[in-house]
Amino acid sequence: MKKHDIKHHLSKELLLAYSAGQLEEGFSLAIATHISMCDQCRVELESLEAMGGSSF
Ligand SMILES: [Zn+2]
Repeated sequence: MKKHDIKHHLSKELLLAYSAGQLEEGFSLAIATHISMCDQCRVELESLEAMGGSSF
């Protein structure tokens, strides 16, 4: 059995919506799961959050 074989990564729009808490709970959970096992998307999310800051 292979390790996690991730073919589809999360889009920037999706990561932004996720970090803004705009996604439905089930969808948000799927994204959290992906991020927990995907370094690429986790780094992307972190850089988006760093850019967006918390100016709201
Ligand atoms: Zn990914």
